[in-house]
Amino acid sequence: MIKAIKGVKDLLPEESPRWRFIEDTARRWALCYGFQEIRVPIFETTTLFARSIGATTDIVEKEMYTFADRDGSSLTLRPEGTAGTVRAFIEHNRAADPRPQKFCYVGPMFRHERPQAGRLRQFHQFGVESFGVSDPRADVEVMSLLWRLLSDLTLPGLTLEINNLGYTGDRAQYTPILVAFLKSVESRLCGNCRRRIETNPLRVLDCKVPDCRVATEDAPRLADSLSSAARDHFESVTAGLQSVGIPFHLNPRLVRGLDYYCLTAFEVTCSHLGAQNAVGAGGRYDGLVEQLGGSAVPAVGFAVGLERIALMLPETVALPTRPRVYVAAFGTQAVKVGFTLLDELRRTGVPADMDFRAASLKAHLRQADRLEALYTIFLGDDEIAKGVATVRNMQTKAQEDIAISQLPTALHTRLINR
Ligand code: ATP
Ligand code: MG
Repeated sequence: MIKAIKGVKDLLPEESPRWRFIEDTARRWALCYGFQEIRVPIFETTTLFARSIGATTDIVEKEMYTFADRDGSSLTLRPEGTAGTVRAFIEHNRAADPRPQKFCYVGPMFRHERPQAGRLRQFHQFGVESFGVSDPRADVEVMSLLWRLLSDLTLPGLTLEINNLGYTGDRAQYTPILVAFLKSVESRLCGNCRRRIETNPLRVLDCKVPDCRVATEDAPRLADSLSSAARDHFESVTAGLQSVGIPFHLNPRLVRGLDYYCLTAFEVTCSHLGAQNAVGAGGRYDGLVEQLGGSAVPAVGFAVGLERIALMLPETVALPTRPRVYVAAFGTQAVKVGFTLLDELRRTGVPADMDFRAASLKAHLRQADRLEALYTIFLGDDEIAKGVATVRNMQTKAQEDIAISQLPTALHTRLINR
C-alpha cells in the first residue's frame, strides 16, 4: 500500500471546516487592515532562499527541500513566504506604485524537520508583508492585525513578546561582545550552539535547550549596544501598541532565526501548545528588498502557523455547515423527479444532497440524519401524482406540504430566514 510521506498530513473533510474558518478569519482581518492577497509560486530558485533567509540559518543549512530541475538548475520548495513575496514585489516593480503595498498570503511551506505535534514537513502559514513604510506605526499595524485575528479566533493563553534587534550596525558592535562571552561559557553549550558561536551567535540566545538558557543567563544585552535611532524607533513602537491597547511583554532574548530582521522582532506564543509554543512571529526587515536586487525599501511582516492555530482552536467555534436539505426520493417516477429537483435546489443556491445508493424511505431517512440535514423533502410516486411534496423540519419535526414547483424558492426562503 502506498502511504503519505513522513511529516505531511491529509486534511480530511471533517477537519476542513475548521481550516476554512481559520483561513477566512485571517483573510477577513487582513483585508480589514488594507492587506491584499498575493499568491506566489511554491517553488523558486534556490538562490532566492539562500540569499534572503541567510546561509547560516537552520532553514538553509538543513531544512530546505532542494532538487535539480531537468536542466540542472537548483530549485527549492518554499520554506517560508517572505522571500517569494519580496521577489514578486521587486519583479513587478511595485515600489513605483504610490499606493500602500500591503500583501497577505496563505499556503503550504516545506521544511525538512523532525515531525512532531505542531511540527510538520509540509505545513501552512498565513502571513503579511507591508512594504515601503519605515514609520513605527507600520510595525504596530502588523502586530495589531496579528493580535486581533488570533484573539478573534478565541485562542487561549496568548502572549505577544517583542524585542529590539537594532540596525545592522548596532548588531555589528554587539556581536564581538557576545561572541567573547559565549566563548567563555562554550563548554556548557549544546553542539548546535557551539557551532553557532561562529556562524550565527545571536541565535544562541534563542536556543530552547535548558542548559544553554542557563549558561547564557548573564550574557551581555543587545539593548546596551543600541544606537539612539534604534531606541527611538522601538519606543514609538511600544507607545503605539499601548495607544491601540495591544498587550505585550519585552523579551530581550528574542531573536529571529532568519538573517533579514532588524529593529522590531516579535513572536506570539501560546501556553497551551507545549514545546512547539510559537504560533507566529515576525519583524522588520528593512534591508531585504535591496539585498535581493530591489531599491532600498523598508518592510515589516509576520507569519503564523495554521497547524498550531488548528491545534488550539476551541471545539466550540461556530463552523460553516454541510448541505442543509436532503431529498428523499423513492419510487420509479419520484427518483427521476427527485434528481431534477436536487439540481434545481442547488442552482437556486440551496445546499442540498441525496444518497443515490439509498433505495428505501428508511435508508434515506438514516442518511438525512447522518448528514444533519435541516429539512428533508419526501418525494414518493403518490406525491408526484399530486404535484406536492412533504417537507420535514428535522429539528422541530413539523411537516408541511409544498407544491413541487415551489420547492426551490420555498426552501431558499426558509434557510435564509432561520
Ligand atoms: P520554531 O521555533 O517553532 O521552529 P520558526 O522560528 O522556525 O519556529 P518561523 O519561520 O518564524 O518559525 O515561522 C512562523 C510560524 O510558522 C511559527 O511560529 C510556527 O507557528 C509555524 N511553523 C514553523 N515551522 C513549522 C513546522 N515545521 N510545522 C508547523 N508549523 C511551523
Ligand atoms: Mg524552525
